[in-house]
Amino acid sequence: MTDQQKASEKVYRVKPEYADSAWINNEKYLEMYQQSVVNPDGFWREQANERIDWIKPFNKVRNVSFDDHNVDIRWFEDGTLNAAANCLDRHLETRADQTAIIWEGDNPEEDRTITYKELHEEVSRFGNALRSQGVRKGDVVCIYMPMIPEAAVAMLACARIGAIHSVVFGGFSPDALAGRIEDSNAKIVITADEGVRAGRSIALKANVDEALTHPSIRSLEKVIVVKRTGGDIAWHDARDVWYEDLIKLASPNCPVEEMAAEDPLFILYTSGSTGKPKGVLHTTGGYMVWASITHQYVFDYHDGDVYWCTADVGWITGHTYLLYGPLANGGITVMMESVPNYPNSARMAQIVDKHQVNILYTAPTAIRSLMAEGKAPVEGTSRSSLRLLGSVGEPINPEAWEWYYKTIGDERCPVVDTWWQTETGGIMITPLPGATDMKPGSATRPFFGVQPALVDNSGMILEGATDGNLVMVDSWPGQSRSVYGDHERFVQTYFSTFRGMYFTGDGARRDEDGYYWITGRVDDVLNVSGHRMGTAEIESAMVAHSKVAEAAVVGYPHDIKGQGIYVYVTLNAGEAASDELAKELRDWVRSEIGPVATPDLIQITPGLPKTRSGKIMRRILRKIAANEHDALGDISTLADPTVVDTLIDQRLNR
Ligand code: ATP
Ligand code: MG
Repeated sequence: MTDQQKASEKVYRVKPEYADSAWINNEKYLEMYQQSVVNPDGFWREQANERIDWIKPFNKVRNVSFDDHNVDIRWFEDGTLNAAANCLDRHLETRADQTAIIWEGDNPEEDRTITYKELHEEVSRFGNALRSQGVRKGDVVCIYMPMIPEAAVAMLACARIGAIHSVVFGGFSPDALAGRIEDSNAKIVITADEGVRAGRSIALKANVDEALTHPSIRSLEKVIVVKRTGGDIAWHDARDVWYEDLIKLASPNCPVEEMAAEDPLFILYTSGSTGKPKGVLHTTGGYMVWASITHQYVFDYHDGDVYWCTADVGWITGHTYLLYGPLANGGITVMMESVPNYPNSARMAQIVDKHQVNILYTAPTAIRSLMAEGKAPVEGTSRSSLRLLGSVGEPINPEAWEWYYKTIGDERCPVVDTWWQTETGGIMITPLPGATDMKPGSATRPFFGVQPALVDNSGMILEGATDGNLVMVDSWPGQSRSVYGDHERFVQTYFSTFRGMYFTGDGARRDEDGYYWITGRVDDVLNVSGHRMGTAEIESAMVAHSKVAEAAVVGYPHDIKGQGIYVYVTLNAGEAASDELAKELRDWVRSEIGPVATPDLIQITPGLPKTRSGKIMRRILRKIAANEHDALGDISTLADPTVVDTLIDQRLNR
């Protein structure tokens, strides 16, 4: 084991006050986990009946085949329900006047609260409005919106009337939007005149107009526009309608559509870190059970807690943990229109104080960008309301974990490092705050019903402490059922690499305590002079250097070693690039991990290419490192394509 691994195997024990008060302590975890895998039928029958209001109860719990000739995944298949009714209607009796959504605007002076009763009424009206526009059960509705309450209303209204929503992140370009409308055959687009983010307006309606000029789009009938800024927009009378006009006319009495458990709830395209995004399909019953149970236990959610997930509704995290999970559990969910560092880096902590947030769930990219600002992100704030912190999206480097734990959480709040994917529907590997001792950088143990395994490249299951390809040997209720319109791609992508197993595409290490450490995507694994190394470990060593903000590691062809180690680095505020610093960083990694991990090339750069959800796109960095600039592949999911030009210039000039 390397020094870096040892250093990161520091353990933070469960706090006694947590073990006493949390839903799940360690004994309970072990007992329930055991039950969930030994008797999944009994376990999920009970959970699904307790958590969800079924219109017609189910008899059959599961019906699953992972056989690559016949991949077929069904949960609770003979039951019926409605997801929106589970998020709204059933809470009206006990919490009609309780806040459902706290909305925080881009402008720190702007906010709004919406009660369950108000949300129910707006969703009902909009459900009727959609019906008036010809939307029927099974139709696809594309939602391309800023982070405003109407985005949540639109999603829930679709669910209410049985339409399948396909949310496209509001930061995507007209081309990316067009591709997703075409792929999903959406009938309606719901958008806003403009979005507002970090003080700038985003021309959402104009982007829709441009997307719809693509001749390949034939399915689209109407564009529904929410007035957010009142800015100037073009208008097509035959096609465009104002949300506000529809709502005014619509009745607040909207009967719910009775959905079979396996009827689609939504399509969502993956982030596109590794290639062309996939239209991941989720269905209704299993997804709702998974959203509810994971949200309650992972975040130890109790009645009245104020819970803030910073993800955009355009990502799966925004679906499961901003909307469906918290609302299914009758919770209070914070929705923010802005970004964590606008107008300054203390914004996130200020919002925590302002709304007395108890639970904060964010991404390593946000944590690292705040960390680069030193103490400024917490200046003048107390954060005393916080009880729990969460992380999702990428491996969190131990250094960033410690900063999150100490600086944001004042060493008081457990950190749940939650590993999961768009395809898994919800959290899979994670600590539970009252049950699991934490190790910075490790996603720790599987959630109930999750059966991970590590396999070698031939698909042999490996036992004990080892490295391998991360697979799931059995199904869980929140699992994706297909790639929309392309079941064959679903089978090929997830079930053909290792027979009879779901392949995650990620690599992981399991330690002596059975804890999982995600080492990165298996496509990114380096093979240096015969040594296999994950990108996460070298990146974590880099980020542990006091001058480094972020790092991304890729392999590139190397005559002697097979693969050389190429490191891209961004620096903390106030640090300057130099050859001496590059040498210092090289020596640093060498002494932290060992000679085998010594970087061959270090490129200090102003920025890294990231997806719009903030993940580093290593596949592009790999191409640049290999000088294959003209074969970058799909870069439409990049947040800032100009970063790529800078990187290529730097690469060519070295
Ligand atoms: P695409 O599948 O299109 O390449 P993507 O995999 O980035 O995009 P998502 O479903 O948003 O799309 O991300 C899931 C991936 O994010 C996981 O497979 C994993 O690589 C990474 N990930 C998420 N959470 C964690 C975590 N806590 N620790 C380590 N990695 C994580
Ligand atoms: Mg993926």
